Amino acid sequence: MIVETEAVVLHSMDFRDTSKIVTLYSKKFGKIKVVAKGTRNQKTNKFGSSLEPMTHSSVVIYKKEQQDLHLLSKSEIVTSFSRMQTDSERMFTGLGLIELMNMVMHNEEENERLFLMLAASLKTIDTAEKNAVNVLLAFMVKMFDQFGFGLSVDSCVNCGRETEKNEFTSVLLRLSDGKYNCPHCSEDLTSTGTKIAGESLKSLHYFQLNTIEKSTALTFTASMRDDLIAILQSFLHYHIDGIRTLKSLTLLHSIQ
Ligand SMILES: [Zn+2]
Repeated sequence: MIVETEAVVLHSMDFRDTSKIVTLYSKKFGKIKVVAKGTRNQKTNKFGSSLEPMTHSSVVIYKKEQQDLHLLSKSEIVTSFSRMQTDSERMFTGLGLIELMNMVMHNEEENERLFLMLAASLKTIDTAEKNAVNVLLAFMVKMFDQFGFGLSVDSCVNCGRETEKNEFTSVLLRLSDGKYNCPHCSEDLTSTGTKIAGESLKSLHYFQLNTIEKSTALTFTASMRDDLIAILQSFLHYHIDGIRTLKSLTLLHSIQ
């Protein structure tokens, strides 16, 4: 069956002498693996740079029934993100996004909303004036929502004090259900959770309520950004078995 779809390139590796196996996150089929023949020789490569990781391309695939490796017959760039190639913060943030997608998504499970969010996120990383790294944080918050284990941080789970109307110094966030106990309620011996700063809580709430494009409006100190990354990684580890730490996040840490 010949199919056409838009896709973001997540990963690519050499295959046999002249080809590559490319992992795509596609609009119609979710994560899908294809063989791109002749790509390793400039003369025979008909795909140009449309198969570079993080590129948003339009692809035609010869999709085989009952198989998990398909054949790529055509690929053209829809959007290439030039600033992501030259600016290390943008690059590591973009790499973090595709690494995350490649790690958590199963093969051939369609999720058009997630695809659109991925494409919009890459575009925002490329065009944002500042704070590009926030896109990855906001993406994780929104992805958790889509997976059904999202944060639930409008108000304290116990007394109902609202996040936006209070200045909590810190709260106890529960990884199990994404709810939190405010400082007035954390004294209770039965409250458990990961202690996070009130400011971090507000940022997570902001990411959840606002679009990906708006995520770059927040400016963090390096330590606050690291705290947020740590919280979101803990959340990911808690809910998805066998997930390793994102390599790109370690690289991001090293450039600050
Ligand atoms: Zn409370």
